[in-house]
Amino acid sequence: MAVLDHISSQEAMALENKYGAHNYHPLPVVLTKGEGVYVWDVEGKKYYDFLSAYSSLNQGHGHPKIVNALIEQSSRLTLTSRAFYNDMLGQYEKFVTQFFGFDKVLPMNTGAEAVETALKICRKWAYEVKGIDENEAEVIVCKNNFHGRTTTIISFSNDPVARKHFGPFTDGFLKIEYDNLKELETVLENRPNVAGFLVEPIQGEAGVYVPSEGYLAQAKALCEKNNVLFIADEVQTGIARTGRMLACDHENVKPDVLILGKALSGGVYPVSAVLASNEIMNVIKPGNHGSTFGGNPVAAAVAMAALEVVNEERLTENADRLGKLFRSELNKYIEKSTIVKLVRGKGLLNAIVINDSEDSDTAWEICLKLRDNGLLAKPTHGNIIRFAPPLVMTEEQLMDCITIIIETLKHFES
Ligand SMILES: *Cc1c(COP(=O)(O)O)cnc(C)c1O
Repeated sequence: MAVLDHISSQEAMALENKYGAHNYHPLPVVLTKGEGVYVWDVEGKKYYDFLSAYSSLNQGHGHPKIVNALIEQSSRLTLTSRAFYNDMLGQYEKFVTQFFGFDKVLPMNTGAEAVETALKICRKWAYEVKGIDENEAEVIVCKNNFHGRTTTIISFSNDPVARKHFGPFTDGFLKIEYDNLKELETVLENRPNVAGFLVEPIQGEAGVYVPSEGYLAQAKALCEKNNVLFIADEVQTGIARTGRMLACDHENVKPDVLILGKALSGGVYPVSAVLASNEIMNVIKPGNHGSTFGGNPVAAAVAMAALEVVNEERLTENADRLGKLFRSELNKYIEKSTIVKLVRGKGLLNAIVINDSEDSDTAWEICLKLRDNGLLAKPTHGNIIRFAPPLVMTEEQLMDCITIIIETLKHFES
């Protein structure tokens, strides 16, 4: 069978099942085309994408400006490696650092790599600038975090499914409660070897947990007081998703180290980045760290186009406005609902909590029904459904989606 032959959903799923590792549990729908807020399956059925590849497609599917950047750059020069300079990387580095207000960027490909990079920079800074004894540096992380899938990153996860039988694990991490300033303060004051605090401004994978107002600003102040780097993992929350360019902007917090990925390329190409000041980034010298594909010319061209789209189409304002509408409309329904406990989120990163036991499959059943009704979403940890559509959505489309969601939920009311 030729690769491009049309295949049915059943055939496509059977192929993945037989020849692919079973490291995901996808919703049974096989997509073949995307445009803006819509995707189509191989049988031609159209859906609203309400996941956006975990907030990668903020700019929508197949954005012409981003796709053109990919086509043009990839037909001219795709990869040089960092053994040589290329004519795109410097332009991108200037663009992205000015865009987010940092001195320097270290380009990588995936979110997990960028998190690893940030941790390495933080440790090196600890020994060379802060003056912590060799191998003694500690990094504070939060319970129920999600920062990716590498061996070091799962070392400080507390998700048993992500960790089991992958040990031994990397040392040097201290886990505290998310959204608990007292615990952060206690650890900072009692552990002189703490070098960094790695935090998601909103815990996305855990179920869109929004911390109390003031948490990020006060956590940042505590870090400053103790000469500890505040490292924000904005891989999921960044690039306009929460109604600000960065979720940290809600509290006017500028992280010492900023981690970006996902929507940095508009979902067109794997592009991630770590941004920091000269003082921090200058600890990295030739040979300390790298990636064959990191900072390649295609990534540079795609990321510049993707960030320009965010500004040109005012996606930050749109996410803020539509997010408020989404929560207020759903709240009207939830008041009378027995199946949904609450909706929470910021901008267009939201979740509903289903009123059922954590191990029931109600959220999954609801997502199957949403699929039948033309909207794709996925349960996250426990009985929680995340709703994260592309930010290019119009108000009319959002109202249509809210109708689909509420009509679907009504089937599950007891
Ligand atoms: C998705 C995600 C990552 C990992 O990104 P990958 O590109 O899948 O490696 C890291 N941190 C957060 C907060 C994420 O949402």
